[in-house]
Amino acid sequence: MVRRPHISNWARNQRFQPQEIARPASEDELGAVVASATAENQRVRVMGAGHSFTAAAVTNDTHVTIHDLDQIHHVDTGSGKVTVGAGITVRALNRLLDGHGLALANMGDIDKQSIAGAISTSTHGTGLAFTGFGAQVVGLRIVDPSGAARDIDANNDPEVFANARVSLGALGVISRVTLQTVPSFRIHAIEQPEPLDEVLDGWRERIDTTDHFEFFMLPGSQNAMTKTNRRTDEPPAPLSRFGYVRDKILAENIGFDLLCRVARRWPGSVPKVSKVIDAASGRREYTDRSFDVFTTPRMVKFYETEWSLPVDAIPDAVREVNAMARSLAAPIIFPIEVRATAGDDIPLSTAHGRESGYIAAHVYQGTPHDEYFANIAAIARAHGGRPHWGKLHNETAETLAGLYPEWDRFQAARAAADPEGRFSNTYLDTVLGSQSL
Ligand SMILES: Cc1cc2nc3c(=O)[nH]c(=O)nc-3n(C[C@H](O)[C@H](O)[C@H](O)COP(=O)(O)OP(=O)(O)OC[C@H]3O[C@@H](n4cnc5c(N)ncnc54)[C@H](O)[C@@H]3O)c2cc1C
Repeated sequence: MVRRPHISNWARNQRFQPQEIARPASEDELGAVVASATAENQRVRVMGAGHSFTAAAVTNDTHVTIHDLDQIHHVDTGSGKVTVGAGITVRALNRLLDGHGLALANMGDIDKQSIAGAISTSTHGTGLAFTGFGAQVVGLRIVDPSGAARDIDANNDPEVFANARVSLGALGVISRVTLQTVPSFRIHAIEQPEPLDEVLDGWRERIDTTDHFEFFMLPGSQNAMTKTNRRTDEPPAPLSRFGYVRDKILAENIGFDLLCRVARRWPGSVPKVSKVIDAASGRREYTDRSFDVFTTPRMVKFYETEWSLPVDAIPDAVREVNAMARSLAAPIIFPIEVRATAGDDIPLSTAHGRESGYIAAHVYQGTPHDEYFANIAAIARAHGGRPHWGKLHNETAETLAGLYPEWDRFQAARAAADPEGRFSNTYLDTVLGSQSL
């Protein structure tokens, strides 16, 4: 008997054993996989790069991996519209765009995701004048439960398109994506330690006057590490190779991993270890290609929760999180990340209808986090927070519905696109409501 392999996500906190594993090499093959699953009454779940912490991509039925759907279909340098296969990684896409003098208008802090996976969970970066991935999408090709594909955009099936830009795969399998890109640009970056109170007091001014502002802080610390990133025409002045390896690889990854291991093994050492990390944070200034500045190597594995709040709630919420972190029996060593984005009109976008501030909290892999993440959730919820669809939370359709003004609109699109729940799984049944097969 051939044993069915287990699949896990990047963080290795989700592990599953599907009945069928499919790796289509073309859109036709993808259609055939979906049609065959429907014929066998199986549910279908696509995994992009497996970088969600939630069980969004988990299934014990038919697991589809889209790595091979990474084609470049069309690049229009005049309009900036670019059509690519759903499985292309953000990293490959960035390099492709750069070769044509184009770039993503904004992105998150890694480039390992597939473009379809990034869109589907409302992945975002930072910058109050810029949206997340979903609102950069101007067209999709989507496969329905019969295996048939159709192109959708603002004119062609606009209702499905409006909803499908953030849909956790609930409306069908995305096989290609058309993005509105921008001319390529560089970023002048200043990364420096600053007193947390100053950063929070000046939060609104900083996000209003900086293209891409964010900060990191150790839970309970009085210090923040700010990133003040401005779009520029200045010539490149990147970090030296030595500086990059010393700061981004050795200090932020290898050295940090070592400190995390010490803190996990001897939790009593966390306050001292935190002081070492705070003291080691220095100032850096450089100018580089947008995607080289947006992305940071993430070699240390962690678990994460992230909440989207009305942007002006951030200073109060961060202070509450910091006070809570100081009262934890087991202090946390992993930084909190705080960002801001523009609002958008996508029904399930975490930035729907409001400028949004994000608080992301992490723990080193294998570290208990239930109490910490639950406390963050309680603080975020009190400020009208919405959890990131790809990061750990315990919300359900009942608690989420009231957070999204166009929840019913999405549910109507889902009922029409997938009445039998072919594209659902346990996670979607929980957060969107059950569509039982
Ligand atoms: C180290 C790290 C850093 C991160 N940084 C950020 C960040 O800066 N900002 C942020 O917002 N998030 C961030 N995330 C979260 C991450 O961007 C999201 O979880 C994203 O969805 C992962 O993309 P993926 O390709 O791995 O998708 P997966 O996790 O594989 O899938 C995500 C969802 O999309 C669905 N899906 C995938 N492909 C398709 C398709 N073709 N058609 C239909 N549905 C599909 C899946 O079924 C699943 O529901 C980070 C995660 C990690 C591990």
